[in-house]
Amino acid sequence: MRTLYRASLVHTLSHPPKGEWVLIDGRHVQRVGSGEPPQSDRVIELPGATIIPGFVDAHVHLTGTGVHHQAPEVASARSPQELIEILRKVVKDKDGPVLVHGYDESKWDRPELPTIDELDGVTEQPLAVVRVDGHLTLANRRGLEESGALDADGAERDTDGYPTGTVTREANVRLRHWFQQHLADHDVEELQLDAASLAVAHGVTCIHEMSMPKERGMRDLEILVRHRARLPLDVVPYVATTDVGRVLDLGLRRIGGDLPVDGSIGARTAWLFEPFADHEGSGAGYFGDDELAEFFHGAHLAGLQVGVHAIGDAAIEQVARTWERVYQALDSRERRHFRARRHRVEHFEMADGALVERAAALGLAISVQPSFDAEWGHPGGLYDRGLGWGRAEGMNRFRTLLDRGLEVGAGSDSPITIIDPLAGIAAFEGHHDPAQRLHREEAVRAYTIGSARLAHQEDKKGSLAPGMHADFAAYEVDPMAVDSVEGLRPVLTVSLGRDVYAA
Ligand SMILES: [Zn+2]
Repeated sequence: MRTLYRASLVHTLSHPPKGEWVLIDGRHVQRVGSGEPPQSDRVIELPGATIIPGFVDAHVHLTGTGVHHQAPEVASARSPQELIEILRKVVKDKDGPVLVHGYDESKWDRPELPTIDELDGVTEQPLAVVRVDGHLTLANRRGLEESGALDADGAERDTDGYPTGTVTREANVRLRHWFQQHLADHDVEELQLDAASLAVAHGVTCIHEMSMPKERGMRDLEILVRHRARLPLDVVPYVATTDVGRVLDLGLRRIGGDLPVDGSIGARTAWLFEPFADHEGSGAGYFGDDELAEFFHGAHLAGLQVGVHAIGDAAIEQVARTWERVYQALDSRERRHFRARRHRVEHFEMADGALVERAAALGLAISVQPSFDAEWGHPGGLYDRGLGWGRAEGMNRFRTLLDRGLEVGAGSDSPITIIDPLAGIAAFEGHHDPAQRLHREEAVRAYTIGSARLAHQEDKKGSLAPGMHADFAAYEVDPMAVDSVEGLRPVLTVSLGRDVYAA
């Protein structure tokens, strides 16, 4: 069936760059044109509207997004007392283990976390409250005990040896995994569906799902793959495992994704060359050099695209050093094809000019989250406090990445920041360092074509031309020209030819 979407303006991000209508046939774009439109079976009139290609969010945790949106008010707490009050309301009509996500103590006047006694006072059920970045979780005694997290590395204890209710690293992974296992398959499906609905309401037509089997089990991905046709958007799965055989068995051509090489700055677990400014130590890498090299090499030779999470400068340097070593071990024919694989680095936040150069030389593809800078990158923000301005100032060099010709795609890391590309585009435009800001069209391209390229999908997604997927969104104003895109929402979103959202 051929459907015509008639707007005032269509930005194709292709050739020709503009049109007035889009004709689709089933799942694909047949033509974009101007003037008198051709015959069609159905006409959708969008007078005055502007159509742009659907956004591709290159870094999403769907189930986690669903969990966050069950109790989004957790993010608005501004003190430990407020957080405890909100938690009391959230647990009120729940029985069984309670998992919530999204507090951010870096926004509080005094960033003191609630004590384990306060957490125990919220509920007798096992309770876990995941920090906004996912790398640290608060839990009551029952949650810590039943999940087995107390025996794992990263379960914090006070000077008398009693648990504080704070877990990071392995203990955090174990705790979250245990809570996740208490969700029924149906609950997981609903959480994923809620998250996908939220995404299409913001003009997103494709997400790269960063599956975390250590925290959510393989079941989480299996459920997603099983019901993905029911979802209103397209999903490209990446699995955070080093098990190449498993990924090949799943029929995937990608591995790793958000596989962490280090932690986060918020949890003070990022791996740094120099210690944190306000915290002991400089984090640690989660992989030995040889172990990481074996993984990269094996996955590359198996024909897979590899992605890893790296935030701290030492972690990013380890990733660069390891890819250089793998590259050296390849024969000349294999080397010629290396860059085309676009191995990914997620976050890449503390990369200085030299690390950007090394990534460029390797042809690495960078998956950035511009809203991290808007949330935490400005003077006085979390990065400044955790690292000092000397280091925080040089983070997230978006302009340098583009200028050096790296592949750059963009995402939200939802639920860490909201799944709203226009918020991300506003963050690109408002970078803390004016020299690193992107212009509107560059920012839009990063969130469409750039992200599509990160998954080798630029022949299907990210622009509108004959044969491309019918993925687009229509807005009452022109998102390319309006002064500020903040708060702008589509009136219609179309994904794979289906009208999946209408305001
Ligand atoms: Zn990550």
